[in-house]
Amino acid sequence: MLKYKSRWYVKAFIKIDRFFASSQICSACGHKEGKKALAIRKWDCPQCGIHHDRDINAAINILNEGLKRAAASKT
Ligand SMILES: [Zn+2]
Repeated sequence: MLKYKSRWYVKAFIKIDRFFASSQICSACGHKEGKKALAIRKWDCPQCGIHHDRDINAAINILNEGLKRAAASKT
């Protein structure tokens, strides 16, 4: 449905698979933290020290990954 709708609006649709480790990567520096328990809602990146909200960090990672794939598919 989303795919169909975005085609309707002539927008690029980029599918990010559900196993993309969006909640394990620091959206600020790219450090991969590894798997975290779902109960952990906030965490600090040991690499750059930034404080993350789990869901916001994951959303930024999914957006970045989508933009990266969109850029890659244009070339
Ligand atoms: Zn970081």
